[in-house]
Amino acid sequence: MDNEAKHRAGRNMIKARFHEYYRRNRENITPPKSMGQREFGFLLFVEGAMLRHKSFNQPSELGKFIEATVPSDIYYSAAYYMDPEAPMDRKGWTGSDLIFDIDADHIETECKRIHDKWRCDTCGASGGGKPPIICPKCKGQRFTETTWMCRECLEEAKNEASKLIDLLIRDFGMNHEEVNLNFSGHRGYHIHVESEIFKNLGSDERKEIVDYLTGVGLDLKLLNLSYPTDESDASGKLTSHDPGWRGRIARSVEEIVLRMDREPLGKLGLRREVIESIIEYRKNIGKDISEFIKDVERKTWRQIIHKAVTMAKVNIDTVVTTDIHRLIRLPGTLNGKTGLKASKVNIKDLPRFDPLKETVAFEGEETIHIEEAPRFEIGGEEYGPFKDIDETLPAHAAILLLCKGSAYPVVKPIV
Ligand SMILES: [Zn+2]
Ligand SMILES: [Zn+2]
Repeated sequence: MDNEAKHRAGRNMIKARFHEYYRRNRENITPPKSMGQREFGFLLFVEGAMLRHKSFNQPSELGKFIEATVPSDIYYSAAYYMDPEAPMDRKGWTGSDLIFDIDADHIETECKRIHDKWRCDTCGASGGGKPPIICPKCKGQRFTETTWMCRECLEEAKNEASKLIDLLIRDFGMNHEEVNLNFSGHRGYHIHVESEIFKNLGSDERKEIVDYLTGVGLDLKLLNLSYPTDESDASGKLTSHDPGWRGRIARSVEEIVLRMDREPLGKLGLRREVIESIIEYRKNIGKDISEFIKDVERKTWRQIIHKAVTMAKVNIDTVVTTDIHRLIRLPGTLNGKTGLKASKVNIKDLPRFDPLKETVAFEGEETIHIEEAPRFEIGGEEYGPFKDIDETLPAHAAILLLCKGSAYPVVKPIV
């Protein structure tokens, strides 16, 4: 088979599986609130084609449409419109949910150098991790990237998601009920806030919220975090119950000073002397950060504060939140990059939620030829690494490899 034929065979196998899934599960797709005011968009298996400006008044209409078209990815607008099917400038925007996108793509993790690959479109040079700005071999600037999700990346994304939820609830006073958490079906989480209070905010106001979350323009002097020179100065006494950023920083300082092990402290970039002084403090009494602050050197304190701020910032894709016309993935639908279900997650269940296990969508097996794949985990099992080999795998693992373009179906001889 030539490359185009392999690609087509792979696409057909994925589409057949997606079709089967939607035939059985179209009732499980939970449409968003006020669905009639939303724009829906569908990415089709026909390469790159996007069907937009659709609207549906009933969940059953949407379900029928999905079953008939079998899209690779399904989106809806965070925005509410008078006429969702009209062209962009005539839709009549009436508001938009506040949305946040947390993606391992934007989080630095060591493991990416092992499981992510780039290949120069011009000369074929390749390497691990993110592509360079220009190809070291031919100075080309176009690359094809293959990214994989792994437990470490997903844990980091989960950590960011719980930080963000905590911030929205504590600092912005949102209710648990209006903060909806969804796993994307690939490397991250989406948070949708459906609230009348935030609905009418424009891009600039949303940018202010983003700046607060990411600590842009944070002035430590205004927060009164300078080295406590005078013990009687109550404002300098930092406690984890302080509101807003003071409390966030205090809680991170507590984490650093009282709980983190040597290795993560080192990863955080703290100097060796600082780590030793922290460990020494814990050995003695070590229960109260204000005690620690009293004895610590000014330089050490500054470094700890600096790292605590880094820890407390939330790593979000800022563009997504400020775009008031954004289309976002519909929970309960399949992700065309993986074949996993984009899934609603109960906030309380987040610590125990296992995205690599609980979002698997297919049963049975498929036989495929794997060109190349790193070691990966799905459905509670590990597979690979593979190179140039025929394998019969559980369908969720096989479809993942097909979606990643790392494999193609093996045509079984007709007996
Ligand atoms: Zn090159
Ligand atoms: Zn990873």
